[in-house]
Amino acid sequence: MWSTIAAKVERGERLTSTEGVYLLTDAPLLELGSLAHEVRARKTDPRIVTYVIDTNPNYTNVCTVDCHFCAFYRKPSYAGPDVYTYDVEGVMKMMAAADRLGATTVLLQGGLNPAIPWEFYPTIVREARRRYPHITPHFFSAPEIHQMVEVSGLSIRGVIEALHAAGQTTLPGGGAEILAARVRRRISIKKGGPEAWLDVHREAHHAGMRSTATMMYGHVESDAEVVEHFDHIRALQDETRGFTAFVPWSYKRGNTPMEARVKQVAGASRYLRVLAASRLYLDNFDHVQASWFSEGKKTGQIALHFGADDFGGTLYEENVHLATGHVNKTTVAELETLVRESGFTPAQRTTLYEILRVAPGPEALDTLAADVPLFVEGLRELPAEYPVVLEGEASLGPVGGVVTSPPPAR
Ligand code: SF4
Repeated sequence: MWSTIAAKVERGERLTSTEGVYLLTDAPLLELGSLAHEVRARKTDPRIVTYVIDTNPNYTNVCTVDCHFCAFYRKPSYAGPDVYTYDVEGVMKMMAAADRLGATTVLLQGGLNPAIPWEFYPTIVREARRRYPHITPHFFSAPEIHQMVEVSGLSIRGVIEALHAAGQTTLPGGGAEILAARVRRRISIKKGGPEAWLDVHREAHHAGMRSTATMMYGHVESDAEVVEHFDHIRALQDETRGFTAFVPWSYKRGNTPMEARVKQVAGASRYLRVLAASRLYLDNFDHVQASWFSEGKKTGQIALHFGADDFGGTLYEENVHLATGHVNKTTVAELETLVRESGFTPAQRTTLYEILRVAPGPEALDTLAADVPLFVEGLRELPAEYPVVLEGEASLGPVGGVVTSPPPAR
């Protein structure tokens, strides 16, 4: 089957779901990666690997959805010291912190907290746009849009149009997990079937917004269900052309309710296989993102030779993986060094993948790398050489503007 698939890819023909399952099971891994890299080089500048300066703060960790894979949320009845919900000014302080760090994208998400009124959501978009016009408010995953439908009485379209009118132009892809009914019933039953996520992204694309398609694998899904996920997003991309990129990552099981049920962690070779298969199967996506953050820096570097053309974001703040015990940090200088070490030229991009700045390429490693400390991963205590103040950061200070208790300081 491999030679048939390789020939079809060379001719630009679409792969079938049976071929998709073969890519995830029996296809020779190195040949798969090499073909995916070839396709990537045809779609995007083969010398360049892009990244974005971004941060992922959260406005609340109160949530009613009880996803079995989530260690981040607190139930509304929980009264511990680590529960928090920010008001508009609290969110603006996060935006100010992101601005000091040089971020051009703020990916803001939260739990589904029924105590938050509808007006909060368009207000934070409008205020973020007004005060920080150079930062893209990449706010709210599909489940949060459904929460807004609940509290506003509007339709999905009504909510999306109100957010768009407030200045929102992009939507993050969170909440997709695996777009297969059986999986969603098992791990996040209150989020509904695949259509719940797809309907939001369809409406966003129709309103003129762009969004990302994500996938969290490595829990209870089968290979056929991963391909079903690919089929859903490939079909929607055919319909709307609204997705900018595909972003897969593996489930992190620490502290999550289904930790004991998932016996085997998806490792690096599974990640590379999923990533390369997605590049071949999702023939209508321009960008596939490699994650130094969720899969580790070395695996992220290898992924740049397995079909990915983008290295994700700096993710200065991240609390969802952190709650599972997964910690990873970087700086712009380290991230660019990792890209150069992989043989590519790093380029800073916007949320919409427009290039803002092309940095020196791999030839600069000799002159630049000596000054750039590379940080070890997975440590809750950062190494001594990790900068206390990141690029552009004066001092974050306490966020403030909080309705209930804040999260622990970074
Ligand atoms: S993943 Fe999101 S929706 Fe699910 S429990 Fe966690 S915060 Fe709530």
